[in-house]
Amino acid sequence: MTKSQENYQEIIHTIKTAASESGRKPTDVTLIAVTKTFLRDDIEPVLTLGHKIFGENKVQEAYNKWVEIKKDYPDIKLHLIGPLQTNKTAEAIALFDVIETVDREKLAQKIAEELVKTPKNIELMIQINTGEEPQKAGIIPQEADNFIEYCLNDLKLPIKGLMCIPPFEDEPSPHFAFLSKIARKHNLSQLSMGMSGDYKIAVKQGATYVRVGSAIFGTR
Ligand SMILES: *Cc1c(COP(=O)(O)O)cnc(C)c1O
Repeated sequence: MTKSQENYQEIIHTIKTAASESGRKPTDVTLIAVTKTFLRDDIEPVLTLGHKIFGENKVQEAYNKWVEIKKDYPDIKLHLIGPLQTNKTAEAIALFDVIETVDREKLAQKIAEELVKTPKNIELMIQINTGEEPQKAGIIPQEADNFIEYCLNDLKLPIKGLMCIPPFEDEPSPHFAFLSKIARKHNLSQLSMGMSGDYKIAVKQGATYVRVGSAIFGTR
């Protein structure tokens, strides 16, 4: 096994254990292998193990890499986990299976328009800026309820859950708990939270997706 394969197996094991320990089914949590900045050669060992769910944070980078890889692995599912520029919406919908970063009205409207023009069975998540960091994308907590309702009821978007990236310097737990609370309030079943440093905590707090990059593939 390569180093990344060992890392991968260990993370899968940790996720399953954390899920069981918190009374959840191991299958309730899905690992998103985050491949930003990594190349096909880096990713191949994990593809070989049969992993199918990957995350990228830039539309163009994802195209450059995944159009080729998908020729050999057609059942790959891709999550967009980085901010989406409105002018890249159509491209993003065409490539990705899940867009986790719906974070403003203009983008939500654009996605709704594109889905009318070119229907696709895509899933969406709303990014919440739980730490209210000015440099970070996401809807601020005070606007979350209205925005979620707007996306669901006015735009009829297929919003399935919420995503957050806690502030680097904070204890992540309160952020995960907060995200989970908002999701429950709106009956949203999916929670994308937890990265290399805190995915175990996130699983214990109800994550259905964890997004792990460097703990699998190494430092970027
Ligand atoms: C890069 C990234 C990750 C993965 O981060 P690691 O610390 O490498 O696991 C998760 N989520 C988002 C939004 C990212 O941009």
